[in-house]
Amino acid sequence: MTESFDLIVIGAGPGGYVAAIRAAQLGLKTACIDKEKALGGTCLNSGCIPSKCLLHSSEMYADILHNAKAHGIEASPQVNFSQMMKRKGEVMSGLNRGIAALFKKNKVTSMTGAATFKDPHTLTVGGMEYSAKNFILATGSEPIPLPFLPFDEKTILSSTGALTLQEVPKKIIIVGAGIIGVELGSVYSRLGTEVHFVEFLDKICPTLDAAISKTLQQTLTKQGLTFHLSSKVASGEITKSGVTLLIEGGAFLRADKVLLAIGRRPYTQNLGLETVQIRPDKRGFIPIDANFRTTQPHIYAIGDLVDGPMLAHKASEEGYAVAELLAGKMPHIDYIAMPSVVYTHPEVGAVGLTEQEAKAKNIPIKIGQFPFKANSRARCVGDDLGFVKLIAHAQTQTLIGAHIISAHAGELIAEATLALQTGATAFDLAHSCYAHPTLSEALKEAALALIAQPIHS
Ligand SMILES: Cc1cc2nc3c(=O)[nH]c(=O)nc-3n(C[C@H](O)[C@H](O)[C@H](O)COP(=O)(O)OP(=O)(O)OC[C@H]3O[C@@H](n4cnc5c(N)ncnc54)[C@H](O)[C@@H]3O)c2cc1C
Repeated sequence: MTESFDLIVIGAGPGGYVAAIRAAQLGLKTACIDKEKALGGTCLNSGCIPSKCLLHSSEMYADILHNAKAHGIEASPQVNFSQMMKRKGEVMSGLNRGIAALFKKNKVTSMTGAATFKDPHTLTVGGMEYSAKNFILATGSEPIPLPFLPFDEKTILSSTGALTLQEVPKKIIIVGAGIIGVELGSVYSRLGTEVHFVEFLDKICPTLDAAISKTLQQTLTKQGLTFHLSSKVASGEITKSGVTLLIEGGAFLRADKVLLAIGRRPYTQNLGLETVQIRPDKRGFIPIDANFRTTQPHIYAIGDLVDGPMLAHKASEEGYAVAELLAGKMPHIDYIAMPSVVYTHPEVGAVGLTEQEAKAKNIPIKIGQFPFKANSRARCVGDDLGFVKLIAHAQTQTLIGAHIISAHAGELIAEATLALQTGATAFDLAHSCYAHPTLSEALKEAALALIAQPIHS
């Protein structure tokens, strides 16, 4: 007999599992199906979590190696790469178990197997059939290969392969200097790998505010990473000793590994979308309306599968919103107040419009900037790289963008996100009281710079 549900969510990534839990909390009989046994999707198993584990471990090593002496600490650290990877695996499996426990607590039926539509209300999973009134597609994305350099995960790596290496490579070429590329490049550079980037554009992390992108590139270059900008890979050849890439214009680059970090595309393989007449667009994204409905009104799509930034918290917000919609509520997602973080050192935290985007939209703006060199906490810690850049509407002083490059920028951006979400002005930030000495005082000073004059610079 076919078991039936109010809602079946396909995919247990940050979009799918959050949608399933919220729907169950709101009283819907809910199932969540993932083809993988380990819950949490790309984010937990081959994305955010493993990369942040390795970024933190490698940063600890680099910090002790380069900075401990100045603090009066003598140490000669050694890298035990297999222990670093083992720890990463333990963090991931702990979080995998956490999602399973949340499913149990909230009475979400969790199933393992690849789901395929048999008809618009029925799925097959491992020979069994399940029906539902509504479905959420949350099947995520996959890395894009170069046509002439398919992934073998030995020499030509995707981010998944780069997160599961057995040894630290001697030299790696990373094609694509976007967020995933610079994060993984930072990990291996800190561990001793010679890292070269080949980037088609003339800047790194192109979605960032231009001033932040430039500072990040300068800082990473000082750390030893090499950027070949405005460069395109023409062809590649796997050799006995590694790989040789031909760059358009005639230069060759050789390394023992290549990481392709040129982007990701929506993943819809074997879902049986043709059976339910849902047609992905040219780029593979599932078209949806303002309420996340596909062309089948009872089938919703969220996360990396639909247009917008490919971010775990974006997927989760959308999953939560669809669950609420199905329970008759009226959720709202403010996409302008959606932060993004680059977990390099220094980190970058960004929310809202960049200066370039605001100017392109002809919005009259005022900018307030404050350097961490003038922030006392940053000086105590000995980590005073970077600045805060706030952008506000010139007349109303309502904040429309915040861009931070510094240690812990990923945490600092939360306050600016709330400011954008609630329509706060630079005046509100400037007149809030901040604990001293904290890095967050730099936000107050940048706001003061915007409305009047900072005190400390
Ligand atoms: C290296 C790396 C680092 C990243 N770091 C960050 C970060 O720091 N912060 C951030 O916000 N984002 C980060 N991301 C992006 C983030 O991982 C994704 O945006 C997020 O995972 C998307 O969530 P999702 O729920 O849409 O899909 P996914 O997490 O991809 O989950 C989709 C799930 O669907 C399952 N599935 C697919 N097809 C089927 C089927 N037919 N039947 C059953 N199950 C199926 C898959 O097995 C998978 O578990 C990173 C990505 C990578 C690759």
